[in-house]
Order: sequence, then structure tokens, then C-alpha cells
Amino acid sequence: MSDAPSRDIPGSPPSPIELGNAGWSILHSAAAVYPYKPTKEQKEAMKGFIYGWSHVYACNWCAYHMRRYVAEHPPVVDDKISVSRYICAFHNNVNEHVGNPTYSCDPDVLLRRWHPGYPNNMADHPSMEERVAAEEKKDGRGKAEPGELGPDPNRR
Ligand SMILES: Cc1cc2nc3c(=O)[nH]c(=O)nc-3n(C[C@H](O)[C@H](O)[C@H](O)COP(=O)(O)OP(=O)(O)OC[C@H]3O[C@@H](n4cnc5c(N)ncnc54)[C@H](O)[C@@H]3O)c2cc1C
Repeated sequence: MSDAPSRDIPGSPPSPIELGNAGWSILHSAAAVYPYKPTKEQKEAMKGFIYGWSHVYACNWCAYHMRRYVAEHPPVVDDKISVSRYICAFHNNVNEHVGNPTYSCDPDVLLRRWHPGYPNNMADHPSMEERVAAEEKKDGRGKAEPGELGPDPNRR
């Protein structure tokens, strides 16, 4: 038997609906785990993520719709609540456009739907880099591996 990777990759390109479901999962989940108190770098990263998404999303008319939306409504990335509301309002705008139902953008509704640790594990966590550095400092050793640091803190 050959050890070469299989050339028969299971699956097929996502349909627009599969892409949409996956896309919203990424956008809402990223908003839900975004910190309550983001750093300047985290705010820049979230803004870049939203703008960047509107240029690379693999559905032409959806990406066009998104570029127009973000041009008229610049991303609000102040904290977890504001960015979650922003993505929700954008999603509702698309929902109206495609004839789907709209949903409440109340933070409790959004975080219950999209945060994996809701409601008991909502604190901001140190970044992975900060956790690795703290572990290295504690042990006085060269390199800590992320896998040694336990499960994703958002899911505990
Ligand atoms: C960025 C983006 C732009 C798109 N633009 C277009 C477009 O221009 N034209 C087009 O035809 N399709 C567009 N789509 C696809 C479209 O939005 C839907 O994904 C698709 O119609 C499938 O809809 P759905 O009913 O399966 O649920 P989806 O709209 O995919 O929603 C997935 C889940 O999100 C939750 N949800 C729904 N609304 C909200 C909300 N406001 N806040 C929080 N959670 C919510 C619900 O649990 C829902 O089941 C876009 C998708 C994305 C990601």
C-alpha cells in the first residue's frame, strides 16, 4: 500500500447555502469570542478581518453586498458586544435582502447562540502567545507547546 496522500479528497465545493452557513458561523463566532476589552492590535485585526472578508468571500454577489454594507456601515469593533451586534445587524440586512427571517441582536440572544462557553465562561482570556510565554517563564524552559496548556479556554 502506498503512503502517498490520497488524490480522492472526499466532498465537493460548497453550495452557496453551505458557504453562507459556514460564513456566518465564522463571523458570529469570531465576534462572540472577541474580548470585552480588546487591545489596539485586536481591534485592528477584527477590522481587517471584516474588511478582508468582504474582498475574499467566495460568492461574488455576497462579497459585493458586503463591500457595500461595510462602506456604508464601518465595522464597530470596540468590544465583544458591539462587534456581535454589528455582525448581527449585517446578517439581518442580508436576511431581509434574501427574504429570510430576522433575529434579535440582544447580546444575550447572540452570545447564547454563538459563544461556546455561554453563560459560565465568558471572561476575556490571555492570548495563546501570552499563555505560552507565561508557561515558559514559570518553568524556566525553552519552549512550551500550546497543546500543553490544556483545552481552548473559551470552551471550558
Ligand atoms: C457575508 C455574507 C454575505 C451574504 N450575502 C448574500 C447575498 O447577497 N445574497 C444571497 O443570496 N445570499 C447571501 N449570503 C448567504 C445567506 O446569508 C444565507 O447564508 C443563505 O441564504 C442560507 O440561509 P440560512 O437560512 O441557511 O441561514 P443563514 O442566513 O446562513 O444563517 C445561519 C444561522 O445563523 C443564525 N442567524 C440568522 N440570522 C442571524 C442574525 N441576524 N444574528 C445572529 N444569528 C443569526 C441562525 O441560527 C441561522 O440558522 C451571504 C452570506 C454571508 C456569510
